[in-house]
Amino acid sequence: MNSPSTAIVIGSGFGGLALAIRLQSAGIATTVIEARDRPGGRAYVWKEDGYTFDAGPTVITDPACLEELWALSGSRMADDVTLLPVDPFYRLLWNDGAQFDYSNNDAQLDAEIAKLNPADVAGYARFLEYSQGVYEEGYLKLGAVPFLDFTQMLKAAPALARYQAWRSVYSVVSGYVQNDKLRQALSFHSLLVGGNPMNTSSIYALIHQLEKLGGVWFAKGGTNALVSGMVALFERLGGTLLLDEKVAQITHRDRRVTGVVTASGQTFSADLVASNGDLVHSYGLIEGSDYAAKKVRSLHRKRFSPSLFVVHFGLEGSFPDIAHHSILFSDRYGPLLKDIYKNGVLADDPSIYLHHPSATDPDMAPAGKATFYALAPVPHMGRAPVDWAIEGPRYRDVVLGRIRDLLIPDLDARLDTCFHYTPQDFKTDLGAHLGSAFSLEPVLTQSAWFRGHNRDDHFANLYFVGAGTHPGAGIPGVVGSAKATASLIV
Ligand SMILES: Cc1cc2nc3c(=O)[nH]c(=O)nc-3n(C[C@H](O)[C@H](O)[C@H](O)COP(=O)(O)OP(=O)(O)OC[C@H]3O[C@@H](n4cnc5c(N)ncnc54)[C@H](O)[C@@H]3O)c2cc1C
Repeated sequence: MNSPSTAIVIGSGFGGLALAIRLQSAGIATTVIEARDRPGGRAYVWKEDGYTFDAGPTVITDPACLEELWALSGSRMADDVTLLPVDPFYRLLWNDGAQFDYSNNDAQLDAEIAKLNPADVAGYARFLEYSQGVYEEGYLKLGAVPFLDFTQMLKAAPALARYQAWRSVYSVVSGYVQNDKLRQALSFHSLLVGGNPMNTSSIYALIHQLEKLGGVWFAKGGTNALVSGMVALFERLGGTLLLDEKVAQITHRDRRVTGVVTASGQTFSADLVASNGDLVHSYGLIEGSDYAAKKVRSLHRKRFSPSLFVVHFGLEGSFPDIAHHSILFSDRYGPLLKDIYKNGVLADDPSIYLHHPSATDPDMAPAGKATFYALAPVPHMGRAPVDWAIEGPRYRDVVLGRIRDLLIPDLDARLDTCFHYTPQDFKTDLGAHLGSAFSLEPVLTQSAWFRGHNRDDHFANLYFVGAGTHPGAGIPGVVGSAKATASLIV
């Protein structure tokens, strides 16, 4: 094919924007078409009464993968975005009062481990070596490689075997440390990309090293400020972003896509189309193709990661003792994960991730107030057909109750504003299949070549980017997927 000179990217999630920046930086006139009124996808934002409520990602890791997007055109991320370090990375809390501050300060981390079990300090050091190895093999070498044919998978096989990638993160961690709480502390990370620590390949232990080496950061003004910075860069480069414009159809002729038609009836043509939307939804946009219909059917048979229930709230007062990122563990770890991933049970004792951005950036809330969100992983809508219009308000009370019991006894008296976001919202707002928050579940049999391909196998100029493609969900994942996809185009 001749070098493309025009491109359409459907969707402005982190993956879509990162790809658009790469294409525009390479001189391909790129138009991003986004269905919603703001860019960012899962990283949407609500601003009300002086509060900034980020909808999705809050933990920024591997800032270097973002820097790279600015460096392509010789500019600097710091001109558009300020990243603030978060310390500790996370505070982990259990119902019995145990607490664990997780950071990349080696001495402090060893002291925290010793508090739980002195014998595990040595085991942790060995786990760190393992994590370094999988980080090098899984992230540095393969994180931005497009797995288009099976031979690439075979090339990766020796490394996968060396690190026993068929074992779960939890099983590998348990081989290194004995304390039950430490096993949770070193394995929960795969949940951040939709993976069950009990089933997800041990390759995902690389997240530990990713955080250790690159740090944990927060974008000043919230994660959506990082999205705005990417949009500013893209538009400076000459790219076009259209908002409130939902793609209704991807047009095609003779195994090539020709452009898109939007719900408002506008037609756009381009040399290539890349979709950042949900995979099932995207193939559904290709009308009159037996191939696409078959693809939708085969995607329906895959395993999708769970959804999330998120309560956003603003409180009167300030909370210096509550860290930026806290995890409130349930008394049940494995059994709770089984309820979410397998049994389709909406648990009354959820583990909760609590986001407190005003701890790092006071401007996220009005003076004298604090912004929070509390997130509980819940089964996707295919596993638990919950009517969220009814269940949502009840579950919001369950989630807030956990925070009241563990951290803020007078939460009710301080509550200034509150709303929640359910699996149904993921489905309605983002077209997420089954309301899944992270697309395909990251298990070994749905990773690399087995995941959505960055270029379609049938339509030669149709590309994909984002959580459903290799390497998977999470900001570094989807930004890596954009690099893999761009490498097939540029
Ligand atoms: C609550 C939550 C917390 C998270 N926390 C973290 C975290 O702390 N750190 C981290 O690294 N990751 C986190 N993640 C994961 C991370 O946010 C996602 O994996 C990532 O943002 C997904 O990006 P994406 O490129 O796949 O696009 P998405 O964010 O899925 O965006 C896709 C875009 O495509 C648009 N679109 C779809 N169909 C159409 C159409 N037909 N026409 C036009 N536009 C369309 C959608 O409107 C959307 O804007 C979190 C996710 C969630 C949900």
